[in-house]
Amino acid sequence: MSGWVVVAGLGPGRESLIVPEVADVLAEATDVVGYIPYVRRVTPRPGLTLHESDNRVELDRATHALEMAAEGKRVVVVSSGDPGVFAMASAVFEALEAGPQEWLTLDIRVLPGITAMLAAAARIGAPLGHDFAAINLSDNLKPWDLIETRLRAAGEAGFAMAFYNPRSKSRPHQFARALEILREACGEETLISFARAVSTPEEEIRTVTLAEATPEMADMRTMVIVGNRDTRRVGNYVYTPRSAL
Ligand code: SAH
Repeated sequence: MSGWVVVAGLGPGRESLIVPEVADVLAEATDVVGYIPYVRRVTPRPGLTLHESDNRVELDRATHALEMAAEGKRVVVVSSGDPGVFAMASAVFEALEAGPQEWLTLDIRVLPGITAMLAAAARIGAPLGHDFAAINLSDNLKPWDLIETRLRAAGEAGFAMAFYNPRSKSRPHQFARALEILREACGEETLISFARAVSTPEEEIRTVTLAEATPEMADMRTMVIVGNRDTRRVGNYVYTPRSAL
């Protein structure tokens, strides 16, 4: 019996956006671990044990996956989108680093998925067609000051930006502050798009200027994409030209 761990992304929501390699590996697994809503996206079948865990216990979940693989199980750790983007892949390697030496020889693979940023950008048009920065606006794992510094630096350097975890009930004021910084760093007329629940039946896409943006336009199911100063509308689309002066 040789176990393995595959860290896989389930894409932004729609089943057809799960890449075939991930679907194949789920068919071979004995165990699936992940945050409750993601594990619920996996179809149950005989021989497959689903382990649902709460949010914010990523390291425990990763350790559990490695322990099961060491016992010979075939474990898939699921994330939404891509597992390497603010998700479980790094948590698995943190657990590996902190774990027993024997784990270093385990068969561990990471399979990419379609991250929310790219699914959202595709629905909007091509807002990330030039240089961009992807930033997690949650201060769970880093101080808010550092987020402010990065927002300002990216805006002033002319990067378009994609924001994950833009706003939650536990930190309602921070996104308002982020918008203030962006208006200063990027200018009031820069376009900002809010893409909520992309590729699901609740999908909503909306683009306004930074001057018009309000914090309520985002929630935890929203991907926020800010253009650079050249980002513009063409028909119903928003795009960023490929070149800059
Ligand atoms: N690993 C995931 C991101 C996890 S962080 C990925 O690669 O997509 C969770 C954040 O992703 C959410 O707060 C939201 O900002 C974004 N997100 C995830 N799915 C989304 C979707 N279907 N539509 C819009 N944003 C989404």
